[in-house]
Amino acid sequence: MPQDTGILVREVAPGVHMVTDGLYQALFAVTDAGVVVVDAPPSIGPRLSQAIAAATDKPVIALIYTHSHIDHIGAADQYGPEVQRIASVPTRDKLARLADPRRPVPTRVVGPGSTGMRFGATEVQLDLAGAFHEPGNLIVLFPREKVLMMVDIVYPGWVPFTNLGMAEDVQGFIDAHDVLLGYDFSVFVGGHLSRPGTREDVETAKTYVTDLVAAAREAQGKVDFMGVAGEIGFANRWLLVKTWMDRVADACTVSMLGKWEGKLGGASVSTPGHCWIMQEHLNINGLPATSAPEPKPVS
Ligand SMILES: [Zn+2]
Repeated sequence: MPQDTGILVREVAPGVHMVTDGLYQALFAVTDAGVVVVDAPPSIGPRLSQAIAAATDKPVIALIYTHSHIDHIGAADQYGPEVQRIASVPTRDKLARLADPRRPVPTRVVGPGSTGMRFGATEVQLDLAGAFHEPGNLIVLFPREKVLMMVDIVYPGWVPFTNLGMAEDVQGFIDAHDVLLGYDFSVFVGGHLSRPGTREDVETAKTYVTDLVAAAREAQGKVDFMGVAGEIGFANRWLLVKTWMDRVADACTVSMLGKWEGKLGGASVSTPGHCWIMQEHLNINGLPATSAPEPKPVS
């Protein structure tokens, strides 16, 4: 592609191309039957269609939505009604409710578990295996090409986007890493930033999130709730609880940055938020640190 399009198109496996504008990623596979596209981020916009037209004369026949979020599929309206729109049942239901013309309602849906599809000789596996980012998020696998795509969990070379990529369920976000590592793949497409990832990137992301759980738990044990209460008092209970939580997150951040700053992009920007979300997750969903008192005001 010419430099001045502002996008990069890279054939990551035979026939499978990743398109990126540096912040977002989409994928397209040229099959015997036509082109299968995965996601249509608005930041890439019509340049996605242009990139496909530059690579092949074949028409686009299917568009897979990895999930419902507009920042990944908000340019789905560049394809007409002749293109099959594939998503999970929860994504279809959500988009039907939203009635947003930029995200036309899927015309073909997959339910929970694993669904195999064939486009010409190309196989695609679509798995709805858990609410790792949002309830309808699909894992997309091209098994023969060993290309795996899952959006908003692993950001190769970088820590996750703010608040664990805005995961709806923190435990789901944590669990996703092991689920992804259970696949046989050599190229990973995460939906964000510029380069595709490898198995090693997913392993590194798993180490980051494992460290995050441990650092948040350890910080809860270190920051004494009654000590904070002695300083803040009990008059404004939300101030007391928030101060304790902020200090837990601060202690977690110091520990995490000691290990990760300079290793993954954006660590100093996003780790404080990750620590805050993780300590709150531990507060409300269990896995308490042995020495961490319940942040319960006493009258
Ligand atoms: Zn998303």
